[in-house]
Amino acid sequence: MVNYETSEREVSACPCGKGKVIRSFHTPDNAWSRNYTTYGLACPECNAKFVVEREHIYSRSEHEAMEAASEKGIAARIKVDQLAASYVDAYFKQFEDKPKTEQLRQMSLLKVATAHLDRFRKERRQGTPFSRLANPTNNPKWLLSIVSDEEKKKQIAELLSKIDEAKEEEEKAKTAMISIRVPTT
Ligand SMILES: [Zn+2]
Repeated sequence: MVNYETSEREVSACPCGKGKVIRSFHTPDNAWSRNYTTYGLACPECNAKFVVEREHIYSRSEHEAMEAASEKGIAARIKVDQLAASYVDAYFKQFEDKPKTEQLRQMSLLKVATAHLDRFRKERRQGTPFSRLANPTNNPKWLLSIVSDEEKKKQIAELLSKIDEAKEEEEKAKTAMISIRVPTT
């Protein structure tokens, strides 16, 4: 087990001015672990209003709204991937006998490729399905065109608008969020 010794230092005033921003430097008791730095707010008022993440102080409500929106978007994307997988695989099956560069080119043309050639080659050699190497939400129009089942198409369309909604919410929260960089020296 690694033990850390922590030394603390005030680096600036907190956002409200009544307390301090504290830098904690954590030093391990062995040579192979790394030391690391964290920041915190020594101020009850600011701790209620702000969160500290690495070298930034963010307004708490917007930061939480951003994370919630991001999670909502990711959850919807995972569901779309699940619903779309068999259709994406069926679509790219027509290029299965073509060289892997051509397979990837077809994916890139549709703007749904997620891997670079080296990784794409490796994954395909290992039998990774096309659907696992594609992000069909990048091209909603194409995605909806390959899904033949009407019920699934409807579900996907709803999830796609949820993804858009989440993006907007995330953007809105990001714009409204207060972000203060902690002086690091
Ligand atoms: Zn404060």
